[in-house]
Amino acid sequence: MGTAIAAVPVPDDLAQILKRADSIKTSNHAEFAALMQRLEDGAAKLSPEQQLYLRYLNAWQFAYRGDYPAALPLLNAVISESTDATLRFRAGVTAVNLLGIATHYEEAFSRLNQLLDQLPRVTDKDARVQALGAASQLYIQAGQYDLSAGYADQLLKESSSAANACKATTVKLEALYRSGKLERLGRLFQDGIDLCVEAGEPIFANAIRSYVAAFDIQQDQPAAAIKLLQNNYATLQSTRYTPLISRFDASLAQAYWKEGEFVLAQQFALEAVNSRVKNEYTEPLTTAYELLYLISQKQGDMGSALAYHEKYMAADKGYLTEVSAKVLAYQTVKQQVLAKKLQIDTLNKQNQILELQQTLGKKAAVTSRLYIILLLTVLASIALWTYRIKRSQLRFMKLARRDGLTGIFNRQHFVEEVEHLLLYCKKSARDACIVLIDLDHFKIVNDTHGHAVGDRVLRRAVEACQAHLRSTDVFGRLGGEEFGILLPDCSLEQAYRRAEQIRVAIATAATGENAPGIPISASFGVAVTSRSGYELRGLLIHADEALYRAKREGRNRVVVSDEVEACLKTG
Ligand code: GH3
Ligand code: MG
Ligand code: MG
Repeated sequence: MGTAIAAVPVPDDLAQILKRADSIKTSNHAEFAALMQRLEDGAAKLSPEQQLYLRYLNAWQFAYRGDYPAALPLLNAVISESTDATLRFRAGVTAVNLLGIATHYEEAFSRLNQLLDQLPRVTDKDARVQALGAASQLYIQAGQYDLSAGYADQLLKESSSAANACKATTVKLEALYRSGKLERLGRLFQDGIDLCVEAGEPIFANAIRSYVAAFDIQQDQPAAAIKLLQNNYATLQSTRYTPLISRFDASLAQAYWKEGEFVLAQQFALEAVNSRVKNEYTEPLTTAYELLYLISQKQGDMGSALAYHEKYMAADKGYLTEVSAKVLAYQTVKQQVLAKKLQIDTLNKQNQILELQQTLGKKAAVTSRLYIILLLTVLASIALWTYRIKRSQLRFMKLARRDGLTGIFNRQHFVEEVEHLLLYCKKSARDACIVLIDLDHFKIVNDTHGHAVGDRVLRRAVEACQAHLRSTDVFGRLGGEEFGILLPDCSLEQAYRRAEQIRVAIATAATGENAPGIPISASFGVAVTSRSGYELRGLLIHADEALYRAKREGRNRVVVSDEVEACLKTG
């Protein structure tokens, strides 16, 4: 019981175990497998995000065993479900690796491109290293050795751990080896092996050894190759990393064949076939079948030779097909990326034009709005200006028609208005009367009280008159202290009575506020159209005569013209 309880990890441990498993997954397969077992046991206690992390490691486990069909869906699930951007990115990189191995090259290159686009924003060191590693690996497969070496160099720069430096160096050396440009391997490869051994990365150290061995075999030094491969065969076996084991087997078979050790050659060739990645045409498989065919032929076993030759042909064809498929996929994706970039550039340009048009449109709108405002302002100013001119014209006209002191019609306008009205009365056969008023002894007012007081007295007299006028009457200042009133549609009697009212009003206004204690009065002369005619001139003469009489008869009185008086008297 006690042991069982102790074996079940607590959640804190689980987080640490996940990290530990992740960090040693390539360096210590045995521990990795053990940790994964513990994680599977405690899976129920993992948080959803931790479960996705575990799925990522599961996928990695499947991939490690060469079971890509099982690994890929797990990675895709992590990519679509995880909230951790770094984990998603890492799952993406692992998927790219698997797609490459599983011969889905076009998808691999396409996804790699997407990841490399994201790379500038990825800050997690391990994730970056993984992506750079995948890029350099995949470009090797597409025969793009320079591109691969470039990513490997970048990988080396960013590698903070010995393990990553080892992986970067391994890819770089593979690119160098495969480029076929090397005449000698030099120190670089031994340094790489040392680096990986120190880093505790046997798979990578042995990968570099496999390039060295292959180079030795090419250079007709099979003994050196055999020595190198045999010395490390056991450690490689313990990693259980089949693709590399198969490569070792195939290289050993080749080396022994060159050494004339046909039994050993056949033995390792068969091993290479056994250890190969299942259902795949690989370089070691082709090599192995070719050797088995040659060995069978040499042994005189023509039946086996024929069978192996067929397998060799199939493997060789399959392998070459895959190689060209990789190159083709790379080129296809490259074209797609270029086309997409071109499309994006075109879209960007179109957007820029649209934005420019919008900006211009906005500017044009602002400009036309400004124009409208300007126009409206101008129009408003014109209207205001016109109004002011009109108003001042009217004021001037009014001023021109009015007397400045009293505000009533001036002589000129009085004459104009009266002439119009007389014409109208004449046409409509109505009587009209003219009343002339002259203030009495006004000179004395001025002389006694001054001109200003005289003005006030003048205005007071005008007000007294206005209080008794109808709207149809025409009232004007004829000059000095003389005024005239035309009473249209008015008989002489009515005129006389109204003149009397006005006279009284002026005389009683003498005690008003404006001129206290200054007595004033006025004399009135009245003429009527029925006697004097509708000509203003005649009317004025008769009214003036009557006014003169009023003065002579003692002032402050109303006198009608002689003829009228005669009529009134006789009437
Ligand atoms: P009478 O009764 O005979 O009419 O005597 P009067 O003093 O009114 O005689 P007259 O008509 O000769 O004098 C008019 C005076 O009115 C002369 C002038 O000083 C004065 N007068 C004329 N116009 C104005 C004015 O606008 N303001 C003032 N304060 N006085 C005026
Ligand atoms: Mg006078
Ligand atoms: Mg007078």
